[in-house]
Amino acid sequence: MNETAERYLWCARALLPGGWADAVRLGLDAAGDLVSVEPGADEDGAERVAGAVLPGMPNLHSHAFQRAAAGLTERRHSADGDAAGDSFWTWREVMHGFVTRLGPDDHEAIAAQLYVEMLKAGYTAVGEFHYLHLDPVGAAYADPGEMAHRAVRAAKRAGIGMTMLPVLYSVGGYGGAQPNPGQRRYILEVDRFLELVGGLIGAYAGDADVRVGIAPHSVRQVPAAELKAALDGFAGLDAAAPIHIHAAEQVKDVDEHVRETGARPVAWLLEHAGVDARWCLVHATHLDIAETRGLAVSGAVAGLCPTTEANLGDGLFPLADYLGAGGAWGIGSDSHVSVSAVEELRWLEYGQRLATRSRNVAAPGHGGATGARLLTDALSGGARALGRPIGALAPGRRADLVVLDTDHPQLAGRAGDALIDSWIFSGNANPVRHVMTGGRWVIRDGRHAEEDAIADAYRATVARMAGAEGTGP
Ligand SMILES: [Zn+2]
Repeated sequence: MNETAERYLWCARALLPGGWADAVRLGLDAAGDLVSVEPGADEDGAERVAGAVLPGMPNLHSHAFQRAAAGLTERRHSADGDAAGDSFWTWREVMHGFVTRLGPDDHEAIAAQLYVEMLKAGYTAVGEFHYLHLDPVGAAYADPGEMAHRAVRAAKRAGIGMTMLPVLYSVGGYGGAQPNPGQRRYILEVDRFLELVGGLIGAYAGDADVRVGIAPHSVRQVPAAELKAALDGFAGLDAAAPIHIHAAEQVKDVDEHVRETGARPVAWLLEHAGVDARWCLVHATHLDIAETRGLAVSGAVAGLCPTTEANLGDGLFPLADYLGAGGAWGIGSDSHVSVSAVEELRWLEYGQRLATRSRNVAAPGHGGATGARLLTDALSGGARALGRPIGALAPGRRADLVVLDTDHPQLAGRAGDALIDSWIFSGNANPVRHVMTGGRWVIRDGRHAEEDAIADAYRATVARMAGAEGTGP
């Protein structure tokens, strides 16, 4: 951050860390960071921003390539026609088949389309949980970071902030199971994994729009010894960067881990892996009350992906108990069956309402606004999980902001927290009008400057992949 502002934005109203404020003058430096935030200020030559200005939403969990398979796993695959037999596990087989046909150009084209969609939905940063390291037959690319760099390149073209989280994926399953053909692109030994991570850290050092962390895939795919070696090695590369892991997404995950180790997976991680505020436990769906409280006090972020968790039939996160324990959380679009911060937040709350037959589960006490609480929690938790200075309009943070169209009928007559509640809980129109990341306008009047070319490349990729198989992924 340079200390002096190079230019100013004047916002009629903006959501600051202390709440809504009028006539807010934001000072930006040449690097795209906020250096001053002054409510009740004169316009005084600043660029005027009409509408309601919010911090951009972090999307803490993405597998970009899955965007191209969204909608293609909605046919029953159980052999006996029993819906109960179709599950996450049959979905996973379809996804593994899909990745055997995906090359670097495909990956970049799909990711660019996805990231433009994210920006248009109000997401300004993404955590890419990236495990397509090897080529389709399981051999290394000439540059081991080839596929990761393609995702970062797509993020840069779209203009979304990126936390690249290379995945450590060691075995096919519990008991050291051999990988199936769909998994062979993911598997790296710990030494090669740490070389990849070190190379990525070096490649993006000093880049304010990119952070590199790691993602041991899960306790299912990374045995304890490999997990420890990766964490020890990573501590020597960057002792402050984020660590993400899938945890307790499925009841079967929990049951198998109990059988293997005698402990539930989140309890095991809390006891053995040094889980703290650097960590993001993605899903963490199936927690007992001790795990719920333990995760909350650890400072780790629960990475909740409600639309994907619904699509996969995972289950419901114990939100009320976790909020009661002061837990941090954020949202991710994961498999991209939906690219909408609104839908993630709405369905997080609606799932709880359906399960408890009550309303306003996430509201902060009597009279508190549910949508506003969901949004502010997801901003702060998402920023922590992505390890970048984002998620708030405050000095030292990136100038990542979303401008809602207050002339939109959905928001007519709404102000303050009622405006956020109306955005999240009324209708399906998208009132996101402009989006800025790192001080650059990337969405103007709902459009991205390169969206047509990016969509053309995406269509060509999907057509080619469908043609290769005949019926699509
Ligand atoms: Zn995931």
